[in-house]
Amino acid sequence: MRILVQKYGGTSVAGLDRMKQVEARVKKGLAEGFKVVVVLSAMSGETNRLLGLARQWSANPDLSECDALVTTGEQVSVTLFAMLLKDAGIKCRSVMGFQIPILTNNNYGRARILEIDNAKLLDMLDEFDVLVVAGFQGVSCHGRLTTLGRGGSDTTGVALAAALSADVCEIYTDVKGVYTTDPNMCSTARKLDRISYDEMLEFSSMGAKVLQIRSVEFAKKYNVPVRVRSTFCDDPGTLVTQEDELMEDVLVSGIAYDKDQCRITVFNVMDCPGVAAAIFSPISDAGILVDMIVQNTSRDGRTDMTFTVSRTNLEKTLEILSRDNKDIGAVEVQHDLNVCKVSVIGVGMRNHSGVASMMFTCLRNENINILMISTSEIKITCLIEEKYLELAVRALHDAFGLDRAGGDRVC
Ligand code: ADP
Ligand code: ASP
Ligand code: MG
Repeated sequence: MRILVQKYGGTSVAGLDRMKQVEARVKKGLAEGFKVVVVLSAMSGETNRLLGLARQWSANPDLSECDALVTTGEQVSVTLFAMLLKDAGIKCRSVMGFQIPILTNNNYGRARILEIDNAKLLDMLDEFDVLVVAGFQGVSCHGRLTTLGRGGSDTTGVALAAALSADVCEIYTDVKGVYTTDPNMCSTARKLDRISYDEMLEFSSMGAKVLQIRSVEFAKKYNVPVRVRSTFCDDPGTLVTQEDELMEDVLVSGIAYDKDQCRITVFNVMDCPGVAAAIFSPISDAGILVDMIVQNTSRDGRTDMTFTVSRTNLEKTLEILSRDNKDIGAVEVQHDLNVCKVSVIGVGMRNHSGVASMMFTCLRNENINILMISTSEIKITCLIEEKYLELAVRALHDAFGLDRAGGDRVC
């Protein structure tokens, strides 16, 4: 049995006209001899609408109920779409996450997939030509509904493709593929024909929401070829795949940005062994991801510690810090929401220096101050003031020649 997994994002199912376009693509897959597993998101805006309803009761609504609430968005999409296919005479059925089941841990709002039993799915695929599966949702070992984090339908798609050894996982969205930067922010952004799993991981972790990071982790781990393409045109899109030598030839493949950031500074903590652990362990125990960290030089046995977390985690982080204030000896905690991250990404950086200085020079030429810096083998990130974000993205895109095919190649 040849299986094709196709995941469609919120804009692709926002209304019956668009669902008709999805229907045409599914029919094409069937005509090519595949059994098709279609993973759908909620209609665009629906998850936000539901979360807005939950926040009418409280700023921090119960997370397990929130998950059960937002899974209804995907339930609406898959049932409506299955009706459309049945009317067209296609043998299909809708499938919720718990019916497979997609088993997750109970980290509500950001659950991780633990296991997908493919036996039931394969049985269903014997009986039906198309399965219309609700993205984003799973079920915990306690039988509660869970969700996989924003953008989590990408992960459902890739995880199902891995579990079913599908030929490919196609991710259909509102842009033609993965670009050198967000095409909605930079008009000269260029679509990439291919990108390595590692680069895509950096793009996603640095804020490019075209693929959720966990979907790329799955794709890399299980070697699933992922093709990102548009629902609304026939462009072949971008293949996310294993790295090859040609990819290393390109110094920088793109620019990513992340607005969901804030900077926290803890002033005047004691400068002694164990302080970093005392600050960051409770934050990490609360499931909060800390990214950039800078410790100032010591003055009279005291120092300042500055780090970034996502805006959604700001309140929780401040609560933890004020609870633990005595233990870390901090005098004051300040935070800043007017910041964002901009990153330059490329596997070619592994063997070539000079990218960091090009980035810093470009930002200097635009008179943009760098607040913090972090690096990995294939990425350099700067924290800057949010008001300069678009300017920084466009200037960096230009400086690295990303509008030209091949960009700046390694010499
Ligand atoms: P969907 O609802 O289909 O899952 P998303 O909104 O989650 O779509 O992701 C697609 C969006 O990702 C695009 O509309 C684009 O604005 C944004 N994006 C950010 N960076 C990139 C990039 N490098 N390439 C393509 N799209 C990007
Ligand atoms: N509907 C969910 C969201 O808006 C999941 C997804 O679209 O991938 O985040
Ligand atoms: Mg998405």
